[in-house]
Amino acid sequence: MSTFMMGVDIGTTSTKAVLFTEEGRVVAQHAIEYPLFTPVPGAGEQDPETILEAVFGAVRHALDKADVKGRISHVAFSAAMHSLIAVDADGQPLTRSITWMDTRASAWARRLSTDMDGHAIYLRTGTPIHPMSPLVKLLWLKAEHPDLFSRAARFVGIKEYVFYRLFGRWLVDHSIASATGLFNLADRTWDAGALAAAGITEDRLPTPVATTTAVMGLSAEAAERFGLPADTPFIIGANDGVLSNLGVGAIGPGQVAVTIGTSGAMRTVIASPRTDPSGRTFCYALTDRHWVVGGPVNNGGVVFRWVRDQLAASETETAHRLGVDPYEVLTRIAERVAPGAEGLLFHPYLAGERAPLWNADLRGSFFGLAMHHRREHMIRAVLEGVIFNLYSILPAVESLIGPTRRIMATGGFARSELWRQMMADIFNREVVVPETIESSCLGAAVLGQLSLGRIASLDAVTAMVGATHRHHPDAGAVAVYARLWPIFAALPAALSAEYSAITEFQRTAPKR
Ligand code: ADP
Repeated sequence: MSTFMMGVDIGTTSTKAVLFTEEGRVVAQHAIEYPLFTPVPGAGEQDPETILEAVFGAVRHALDKADVKGRISHVAFSAAMHSLIAVDADGQPLTRSITWMDTRASAWARRLSTDMDGHAIYLRTGTPIHPMSPLVKLLWLKAEHPDLFSRAARFVGIKEYVFYRLFGRWLVDHSIASATGLFNLADRTWDAGALAAAGITEDRLPTPVATTTAVMGLSAEAAERFGLPADTPFIIGANDGVLSNLGVGAIGPGQVAVTIGTSGAMRTVIASPRTDPSGRTFCYALTDRHWVVGGPVNNGGVVFRWVRDQLAASETETAHRLGVDPYEVLTRIAERVAPGAEGLLFHPYLAGERAPLWNADLRGSFFGLAMHHRREHMIRAVLEGVIFNLYSILPAVESLIGPTRRIMATGGFARSELWRQMMADIFNREVVVPETIESSCLGAAVLGQLSLGRIASLDAVTAMVGATHRHHPDAGAVAVYARLWPIFAALPAALSAEYSAITEFQRTAPKR
């Protein structure tokens, strides 16, 4: 009798459980959302207990939607990276889960880079020095909440907490570990220098294990809550970013996954870990023989949302009245203008930026504005600016892995034909939109198949991922963007002092 596999993704807005056939077809799914708490400015916290409940609920409900009792080969996990929970000796949380969105450790990221050995730590650990990094959060916790820091028996992430509650063991997969800033990529152990910088010893962290590790022996209560036999293999899995690469089938040489949802990222898989002498890229583990390098951007679709809400109120209202998606109305307006928006560029740094410049002080701007520019030029320039920004990561990625050929594109932006074609033209590469919806869940489930010997290699995923759209570069547009690209790239490089000055001004500017 055929079996089914389940992928569970513990994300920032929800936990999703997806039940697949062995061939990767979705049978049932369920998602449970939870809140993000911001008790003070910069905070981005979640309640670990609520997330544990969501894991039980999502799996249970997905199983209930299908008639597959007793036929689950494995449950495999994906999780958002960079979370940090301090727990006491009994495993009780002393803090909420401090997520990647939390920016309270910003000053410590700067200090680690300038006064401490930040860059050398990045080169060994693969996690950029940034407030999202658990290493940087530990520095902040030690300085600003010393009581809590010393009371904590252990520091763990959300998936480690969930596994502890299910199995009573403190384990972390190599992939989540590689996104803590504390994990030595070459040795696959906790990095002595990073631990010294954080002021902790190894016994205060979970034990690192391979991403393919299968854990068994659910407590009777947990088995009952999931509705699964206690001996169901639970595959520890990896982080959501690397699993998304696997889930869209971007694991071969020269294949790049680019996602633009609210934020965005570029990622590609290589056979051994590599970091960037200029510190522009991350490197995270997928398996011991697959490593993912790339860069995350803050300014993805959120910038288009800002345009919709701030610059296009009347179009949005009309769209709502006609019952159409405002984004579609806006992209149709942008289509009236030729590639290059007749010499208008937009730098989309509304939320500062991570890769490749890693500068929270960057700010957005239109450049080249002239009397002939109308609103449609501005909308088109914004869409182009978001793609140019992602394209600016490519040189760093290619300096590590060599030439790239094909883009697997995912995220909300891929709903727009215009935006997808823009990506093909700016990148001058074929763009393919895979069919998979929950790519991290599929990636987890496939990693589980490898773990259990049900597939010979991760390449099996290619047969599971279909394509919905393909775009080839248009030679005319490629030539236009190639002329604009040096102008786009030169500006942020030249304006570093002015970005800081305007950010400082904004911080202290009079408000009404
Ligand atoms: P999230 O990252 O929060 O899961 P999505 O992947 O759904 O979000 O992406 C949301 C973004 O996708 C929006 O902010 C918008 O920029 C973009 N988007 C959504 N629908 C469309 C569309 N029809 N055309 C163009 N862009 C769209």
